[in-house]
Amino acid sequence: MADIKITRLKWGPFPLNRENIDSLLFLESPGTYALGTMSSKGVLEIEYVGRADKNVNKSLKEYIGHYTHFAVTKHASVHEAHEHECQLYHDFGPPDNRIHPRPPEGDGGGCRHCTAEASV
Ligand SMILES: [Zn+2]
Repeated sequence: MADIKITRLKWGPFPLNRENIDSLLFLESPGTYALGTMSSKGVLEIEYVGRADKNVNKSLKEYIGHYTHFAVTKHASVHEAHEHECQLYHDFGPPDNRIHPRPPEGDGGGCRHCTAEASV
């Protein structure tokens, strides 16, 4: 039986615009985010998940105009951000993520969610 995990994105969903990004993310840090649109039920329909290794504020701004809403979590390390990104990727299978998230430079840890699926 698969282990159902609750995926936590700390903040959001919010409309994707500069004001919201700047007010939430005024310090540079690694982060993970989910992008998509709001359903009529008020739920974020996740279309893409991503990770920023250095500055999540800057990464999110590149998606303004492509998606209407975002949710985001900051991380203490790039490694932690990558783990969370993989979890989001496996939990939601976002349609706009064509490939599995890449590990950060120098991080040979692989993805424990893939390992878990392979051993089922
Ligand atoms: Zn994986």
